[in-house]
Amino acid sequence: MDCLFCKIATKELPAEIVYEDDRTIAFLDIRPINKGHTLVIPKDHALNIYEIDDERLCDVMKSAKRLAGVVKAATNAEGINIGMNNGPAAGQVVMHAHVHVIPRFADDGHAHWHGEPYAEDELEAFGKLIRDAASAA
Ligand code: 5GP
Ligand code: ZN
Repeated sequence: MDCLFCKIATKELPAEIVYEDDRTIAFLDIRPINKGHTLVIPKDHALNIYEIDDERLCDVMKSAKRLAGVVKAATNAEGINIGMNNGPAAGQVVMHAHVHVIPRFADDGHAHWHGEPYAEDELEAFGKLIRDAASAA
């Protein structure tokens, strides 16, 4: 399979690796939101959160947690965003599951997500929609 992050995981392609264990590897994003922006991936190929094995996702999240503290300390960040884009509409460009660990600073100029309140009855309607989907899953 021609997958960029698989090739980084097997070291066929270079990357600035900052952490590695048996099942996960973490390296610097080449186009960082802020310097030190790190990507954590499973070494085994998985497309996204829907397809990744539960245990493997736990491995990735454990590494992301560890790196959150490490990246924060190393970059003197004031906060850390943890993010995962799943599907092109959500901004996923590389089709190998990955978690972003992004150092943040109060004055870094990046906007936070802007929420809008629900219209009348919508909150309950969406609650029901999602509860029904959860009980069918
Ligand atoms: P996505 O938008 O899929 O969640 O994030 C993919 C990320 O991978 C982007 O932030 C992008 O800058 C990064 N990226 C794309 N190609 C490469 C690469 O060849 N090497 C590294 N280290 N990062 C990459
Ligand atoms: Zn892959």
